[in-house]
Amino acid sequence: MSKSYYIGIDIGGTKILTALADNNGKILNKVKTATQADKGQKFIISNILNSIGDVKKSSSVKKADIKKIGVAVPGPLDFENGLIIKNSNLAWSKVPLVDILESHTKKPVVLENDANAAALAEKYFGAGRDSDNIIYITISTGIGGGIIIDGQIFHGGKGNAGEIGHMTLIPDSDYQCGCGNYGCFEAVASGTAIARRGKKVVKQKRKSLIINYSKGNPELVDAQLVAEAAREGDQEALQIYSLTGRLLGIGIANVVNLFDPEIIVLGGGVMNAEKLFIKDLKESLRQRALDYNLKKLELKKSELGKNAGVVGAIAVSMGDDLYRLT
Ligand SMILES: [Zn+2]
Repeated sequence: MSKSYYIGIDIGGTKILTALADNNGKILNKVKTATQADKGQKFIISNILNSIGDVKKSSSVKKADIKKIGVAVPGPLDFENGLIIKNSNLAWSKVPLVDILESHTKKPVVLENDANAAALAEKYFGAGRDSDNIIYITISTGIGGGIIIDGQIFHGGKGNAGEIGHMTLIPDSDYQCGCGNYGCFEAVASGTAIARRGKKVVKQKRKSLIINYSKGNPELVDAQLVAEAAREGDQEALQIYSLTGRLLGIGIANVVNLFDPEIIVLGGGVMNAEKLFIKDLKESLRQRALDYNLKKLELKKSELGKNAGVVGAIAVSMGDDLYRLT
């Protein structure tokens, strides 16, 4: 009997990661392509199709042995019709990606929200493998999440559950979110929020290394620059990270109280600075999560990092083959 293989594609605003894996989820080959989102939809799609060709080319896998293709993209998605509803990074609206890819590749294509796909990847191939009930939270320029219940992605009624970043954390905040609302979790506790607080330090000319590092230009302040200042003991920067930790702890406590997960997996670029905020995060999590939900709760760092999306796309394409692995 011939072996089955899967292709996973993680489509981001700047790059497309495409991988070929065997039926144990082992990656055999991986290619990275620039998305070139500014060149428009047709161009992006031809880049995706080329990446599928490239990932196959340098392997000995026959086209006939490729069972399915999984695609991870930022939501929201229309699962029933295989549509990307709206994607600000790619400037797409109502793109029938599943139909397009299926007609070109003649293979079944499954679409999934990238944070959900990453959550599934951490469950089967990463930090969440020891439990069937995990929540993955990615903290970067935004905050995204995926909920795994009984080993499967929780999709909700129309497929777009798990938008952890858009729960309201501070109702009277003047930090506006990409969704249009104010005070969303991602608006107040993401890397963008850290940068925004750092920019304020510069604008208000407070005594801080953030000013030195940015040469007084608030536009040059990002979360990483604030982290560098904090690591040098800068009080303003340390306070920004401490506040971020407290807010992250509150958001995570809300999720823990709702879903009672056994493992919370934290990923995203802001986690590179975890030493600056993890103590505050844990403290506010302990304060606000219910005692019986905190018992045996494990907080773990993502094991897959930047590969979580593409491994997730493979996991999604594997379907029932994935559940065989546990
Ligand atoms: Zn929002």
